[in-house]
Amino acid sequence: MSATADMHVVVIGAGIIGAASALELLRDGQRVTIVEPGEPGGEQAASYGNGCWFSPSSVVPVSMPGLWKKVPGYLLDPLGPLTVRWRYFLRATPWLLRFMRAGATVARAELLSRAMAPLVADSPERHAALAGAAGVDTLIRHAGQLYVFPSRADFAASALSWRLRRERGVRWQELDADELHQREPALDRRYQFAAFVEHGAHCIDPGAYVAALVAHAQALGARLVRAKATGFAIEGGRLRAVRTESGDIACDRAVVAAGAWSKPLARATGDDVPLETERGYHAVIRDPGFELRHTIMPSDGKMAYTMTPQGLRIAGQVEIAGLAAAPNWERAKILRDFALKTYPALPRDLAAERVSVWMGHRPSMPDSLPCIGPASGCADVVYCFGHGHIGLAAGALSGRLAADVVAGQPPAIPLAPYAAARFR
Ligand SMILES: Cc1cc2nc3c(=O)[nH]c(=O)nc-3n(C[C@H](O)[C@H](O)[C@H](O)COP(=O)(O)OP(=O)(O)OC[C@H]3O[C@@H](n4cnc5c(N)ncnc54)[C@H](O)[C@@H]3O)c2cc1C
Repeated sequence: MSATADMHVVVIGAGIIGAASALELLRDGQRVTIVEPGEPGGEQAASYGNGCWFSPSSVVPVSMPGLWKKVPGYLLDPLGPLTVRWRYFLRATPWLLRFMRAGATVARAELLSRAMAPLVADSPERHAALAGAAGVDTLIRHAGQLYVFPSRADFAASALSWRLRRERGVRWQELDADELHQREPALDRRYQFAAFVEHGAHCIDPGAYVAALVAHAQALGARLVRAKATGFAIEGGRLRAVRTESGDIACDRAVVAAGAWSKPLARATGDDVPLETERGYHAVIRDPGFELRHTIMPSDGKMAYTMTPQGLRIAGQVEIAGLAAAPNWERAKILRDFALKTYPALPRDLAAERVSVWMGHRPSMPDSLPCIGPASGCADVVYCFGHGHIGLAAGALSGRLAADVVAGQPPAIPLAPYAAARFR
């Protein structure tokens, strides 16, 4: 138990970040209340419908050199892999400018990559430990990740990404066409080359996983309050309570883990953070008629394929359109249609009832790095949000880091790259 144990800590949000934070706080001997308006790990959360990957190779920022040249095309192609809805364009412009600048040079991309790496490096082991303690280790699979390419030349075309991975200690095995198709016979023959990251793992049902972690936290004594947090009661610089729609909850500390909805909470404690939602989609094809040994990402599709108990999940797409706009299900259809091109065994006339779709909100900072650390306006409030594309993987360590900040103990890794004030 830490020297600063037995504080009452309110965790705001029950996605993977809130769930892992709650468990780490309990481990330190804190008293925990989780505030969440929806189901823990429910469909409203990004943690529910993501690509399922715990990927140590997710050390490449989304913003990379040359991105700025592609943005006009993204604006003009409403069904491309990254799109900005015109109606939201003006509001998104400051974020987009920061996004384009964040990784605009190789030196900047390297810096970001260095800061991403420790968040995901041992994510398979950390999640295995969390899942094991919660009694759901069967949800975690250590099967490795396959990045597949039409040719070795296509792999070489993304040399900078793979250099960043190599420099961060990511190891992979290069597979020729025969080796690849022996491993994954269902894959279309146009893929002739692969990089296999054996260390990668995945979760076959992230929503069920988060729900199990929160149930485990409750079994260990956490209280779950079904409410939306609206702000904080702060007196003399100290936190007195978290304000919710159903009243104040008196507490000593709070962890803001409300994903893409964290911006107004951070503003209430002095930080105007450039947090945007990168909306993503999934399609799940029930009974695809084949199995996959690994999770797969095709270079020409930029989406994650993962076999789940519900079927083949295809997750991806980036849509900048805000928290409120209705989903554009055409984007989930793109994912489904790409799967038809990737796995010839899927029937061309796939019945609509066999496909379920989902849209969710990646909580994204322009530089692909989360905000983890104390709030500028009140150190009793600790941020842990903004994990963008890597939050499922990074969730386990992030929860530990949030608990370290709450306890005032040295964090497992330096937190400077994740300071909320870095964009001032
Ligand atoms: C299509 C897609 C694919 C992805 N693939 C991967 C992947 O393969 N691997 C990976 O590592 N990451 C992936 N991600 C990213 C990952 O899912 C997210 O980074 C992560 O789930 C964020 O977790 P979170 O807990 O911060 O937010 P969320 O899971 O969104 O949870 C936030 C919670 O806060 C609650 N909340 C909101 N407002 C309030 C409030 N005011 N008070 C209280 N509670 C509130 C919400 O109801 C929600 O339950 C993907 C995301 C998407 C969309």
